[in-house]
Amino acid sequence: MHLSCLAPGARRWHIGFVAGSRHKSGTKPSLRLRVTAAAESIVRGGHPWVFAQSLRAQNRDGETGELAVIFDRKDQFLAVGLFDADSPMRVRILHAGKPQAIDTPFWERRAQDAFRQREGLFDSQTTGYRCINGESDGWPGLVLDRYGDTYVLKLYTAAWLPRLQELAPLLARGNRLVLRLSRNMQETAANRFHAHVGQVLLGEPLAGPVEFLENGLRFEADLVRGQKTGFFLDQRENRREARALADGRNVLNLFSYTGGFSLYAADGGATSVCSLDISELALAGAQRNFALNADRAAIARCGHEIIQADVFDWLRQKASRRFDLIVLDPPSLAKRESERAEAIGAYAKLIAGALARLNWNGILAASSCSAHVSAAEFFNLTLEMARKSGRRFAELKTTGHAADHPTTFAEAEYLKCIYLRLLE
Ligand code: SAH
Repeated sequence: MHLSCLAPGARRWHIGFVAGSRHKSGTKPSLRLRVTAAAESIVRGGHPWVFAQSLRAQNRDGETGELAVIFDRKDQFLAVGLFDADSPMRVRILHAGKPQAIDTPFWERRAQDAFRQREGLFDSQTTGYRCINGESDGWPGLVLDRYGDTYVLKLYTAAWLPRLQELAPLLARGNRLVLRLSRNMQETAANRFHAHVGQVLLGEPLAGPVEFLENGLRFEADLVRGQKTGFFLDQRENRREARALADGRNVLNLFSYTGGFSLYAADGGATSVCSLDISELALAGAQRNFALNADRAAIARCGHEIIQADVFDWLRQKASRRFDLIVLDPPSLAKRESERAEAIGAYAKLIAGALARLNWNGILAASSCSAHVSAAEFFNLTLEMARKSGRRFAELKTTGHAADHPTTFAEAEYLKCIYLRLLE
């Protein structure tokens, strides 16, 4: 599709952003796009995604990683974004509104904005947190997490790869920087950009997992093989809540991963904690994390049991044991919209099974990280399962995203948690 019909406006299109274009040839005209009226108003409203089916015309084929400039119906600048030729999410918007040069000072300002937003959120007892949360921080498809002196850069689009050299120093700020890549782009990254998972972009090579602090507790994270960027930093505030609720309680941590909630519960005075996960690797990590904190009296006192099992199977067994605090934090059960109905059914089973294992006065903290299941849906489902159980529950509170995981548009909201207490 070409824009011959738009030729009269073409000259104006070069104003303002050619300087920022790092196109290899240097002679190619900048990539110019027009989108449907619906996409135009979505982008004008600040939404960061333009899908392939919303493109109406482009002046030439685009290459993954180059800047694409979107013009509105009146041939005025609408937005500039990163083009991804291989993804249905064809453009990720970097800036909308007035023309803007996308150059090194622009990236520096963007990084500074994100770092400034985290200033004052954490003291020296928390050295693991998110520094850049993708589109919601103006870095679409890019996440930056801190683990002590090591930072992990996780990319969800190959469009960032041609810019790694330029961006790595200003993201790492003198620290070690490790690269993680979403599965769907790993082949492109290897073949076209010689980039791979676990690559150390800056600093010393990794010698195994790294250690960091979260609310005074020591954790290790495998930044290369671990889930997400190595740890579920997004659950920090709910783990803190679990610590506040755990005193004198026996605790069950379902989908425990490397024992984050378990450690907090033990530190909060739990009498015993049971970490249950399907992954042997995750449970071995949980044991190491307990060992790392053995100098804390409450943790040393607390019995830690490990069960390697499928939570769904385990909950189907007859409920002989009861718990005073149950943490339920399954992986995303709906990765796409088509899996939503099935996910709701799975959540219903998990919630019912967990509620059935609560002692009198027991508390359930149920989380969902499926973006395709809304917070309202998940909370209503949990309350409905509580009603169906025939027992009386009080809703204690609900939580959403923590301040280091901000969200600026609906699709970015995935994490929610509801706390219920059994009254009788
Ligand atoms: N609550 C954890 C994060 C949980 S991540 C934290 O705060 O760190 C989800 C975990 O569920 C992963 O460790 C994964 O191994 C585990 N998992 C996935 N499917 C499972 C299943 N069917 N049964 C048990 N564990 C499962």
